[in-house]
Amino acid sequence: MAVTRRVSVEKNRLRFAAAHFATFFGECEPLHGHNYVISVELEGDLTEDSWVWDFGDLKQLTKNISDTLDHKFILQLESRILKINESTTSWEISYLDKQYIFPKSDVVALPIDNSTAERIAEWFAEQLADSLSSRKGKFTKLTVGIEEMPGQAGWYTLDMQPSPTT
Ligand SMILES: [Zn+2]
Repeated sequence: MAVTRRVSVEKNRLRFAAAHFATFFGECEPLHGHNYVISVELEGDLTEDSWVWDFGDLKQLTKNISDTLDHKFILQLESRILKINESTTSWEISYLDKQYIFPKSDVVALPIDNSTAERIAEWFAEQLADSLSSRKGKFTKLTVGIEEMPGQAGWYTLDMQPSPTT
């Protein structure tokens, strides 16, 4: 009989404030920000002492990634719509007659094509899976939700290889 075991952590300190503008069918949103809220669900088999994984550790790993986005402009480095130029001190982003110049210290440049909640969730899940790969849990699936505002979230689920050492 197949069973699913899952732990989840969300909200409280698992949030970040960031600015962005997404593109949408070739149009570009105005610059704005969100108080993003993160949800994480981790599925797996139990360890010998009956954990899927420790909540505190999962929260800390999540917060470490969240902190890299907090109070930043999220730049979709692989945009097919925006024209992006990197200089030593700034990112210059243009779209038609609009041009933004951001100091690099205010920007987190992600290898995504658009700064949608869906893509941020995908990037976040990959980072978190990478952090979890050093842990000895028997993880099978990781889901990350990125809520832009209450009731409005993008989700991504990643299949994970169970750790061969356990
Ligand atoms: Zn937005």
